Amino acid sequence: MQNTTAPKISFVSLGCPKALVDSERIITRLRAEGYELARKHDGADVVIVNTCGFLDSAKQESLGAIGEAMAENGKVIVTGCMGAEPEQIEQAYPNVLSITGPQQYESVLDAVHRAVPPLHNPHLDLIPPQGVRLTPRHYAYLKISEGCNNRCTFCIIPKLRGDLVSRPAADVLREAEKLVEAGVKELLVISQDTSAYGIDLKYAASQWKDREVRAKFFDLSRELGELGVWVRLQYVYPYPHVDEVIGLMTEGKILPYLDIPFQHASPAVLKQMRRPAAQDKTLARIKTWREQCPDLALRSTFIVGFPGETESDFAYLLDWLDEAEIDRVGCFKYEPVAGATSNAIDNPVPEEVKTERWNALMARQQKISARRLKRKVGTRQQVIIDEVGPTVSKGRSKADAPQIDGAVYVSSRRPLKVGEIVTAKIERADQYDLHGTVAGF
Ligand code: SF4
Repeated sequence: MQNTTAPKISFVSLGCPKALVDSERIITRLRAEGYELARKHDGADVVIVNTCGFLDSAKQESLGAIGEAMAENGKVIVTGCMGAEPEQIEQAYPNVLSITGPQQYESVLDAVHRAVPPLHNPHLDLIPPQGVRLTPRHYAYLKISEGCNNRCTFCIIPKLRGDLVSRPAADVLREAEKLVEAGVKELLVISQDTSAYGIDLKYAASQWKDREVRAKFFDLSRELGELGVWVRLQYVYPYPHVDEVIGLMTEGKILPYLDIPFQHASPAVLKQMRRPAAQDKTLARIKTWREQCPDLALRSTFIVGFPGETESDFAYLLDWLDEAEIDRVGCFKYEPVAGATSNAIDNPVPEEVKTERWNALMARQQKISARRLKRKVGTRQQVIIDEVGPTVSKGRSKADAPQIDGAVYVSSRRPLKVGEIVTAKIERADQYDLHGTVAGF
């Protein structure tokens, strides 16, 4: 007799937003074929683990997740960044069903089909045209390219994901429009190097509606800005053409927000890191951007304890932070990643020094962040609601990306809805968050 119960997949998605987009694509395909998602490994027909291989600690977390899935279920398919170098997984878990690298959607689907064939039921084949997203309905990540042409010495992503491959502009815009039609209020543009978008395509134009749109950072940003939702740019390197999009921010077309992973400020360390677009004029450019667009919020990440980083390099970084006044900062202690060329750089920094520097940087940044947030007290800010509470709801201003930045806690006379954008009067600020009252809907 034919089995009529939909096969169930348990899915673990680890790693960065880019990996999350891969997970969403796999799940969308599986749902289209009639598979269902299980809440637990136990009782699922098969488990898929989308791994992260960026740092050794992420690899350990991925191995842990595979181990859990093996213990609780036993039928496990592994994909994602760590799958690009399968030896470690094979050694620890020789019985996993299959291992594939990032973006190998077809191989993952084949492995699922082998483990548990799909159920052919036309009613189950229905899938919303915008696909299945793992992020809440009101915001979505929009991946514009895969891979990276840079060769930062601490990073193995180009080895894992290859060189830059951009999607044609019309393709990205079609997806963005579908997301907006499905109710998304905020699009987060992501890739490994967002401002390098289109280089591989030689900026070729593609037909979008009645016009041709070039696969170029500015052109794509401008078109996305026409969709009437919040558009947030992440993972941007400060190439000269970034200056152009500040104009779109000033006009209110895209959010006044730039996530630029500077990683360091000292020219000597940046050189050793081989960072793209690292140049000594960055502070002057930040100043000009802020003059043009006073609401601009900058987010960045930094690595402390990179091999060869001296006390004076670190002091330079702290001074630079004071001047740059970056609104939101993430900081990591350098970790040697297997396969990264930075492992061969002389003078590794001892662990206790890394920790000291990490603490010092975080303390300095806390002051900067508190100072920047305090300036917002008394202003009115638009806030997108992420979670509703009985008296206070949690949202984000235009300066806050989901999951990584701070929050705005707002009280309201009438109940709010998730995804709603309200105007709030800011009454109080602490080190990371703002607090206020809804003053307009
Ligand atoms: S820009 Fe550098 S850190 Fe980012 S993915 Fe490319 S090589 Fe890695």
